[in-house]
Amino acid sequence: MSGAAQVKPLDDRCPRCGGGFHCGVSDAGPCACTTVTLSAELQAQLRQRWSSCLCVRCLAALAGGAALEPGAQATRST
Ligand SMILES: [Zn+2]
Repeated sequence: MSGAAQVKPLDDRCPRCGGGFHCGVSDAGPCACTTVTLSAELQAQLRQRWSSCLCVRCLAALAGGAALEPGAQATRST
């Protein structure tokens, strides 16, 4: 019958923490990620590592200086 356009689900999964989130980049309103300011250098690193969006929580953590990999500890006591 009518199989014109494939509707992509708007709900994504964050590749960093595995949590579900909604990327509003194609929404009419501004996405929540616009509230997070990332440096150009950090954005380039993210793009190299992941091809998709991250959730706002991870973006905020990264903007605050968190490690790219959530499992990797920045400071390790031996
Ligand atoms: Zn995340």
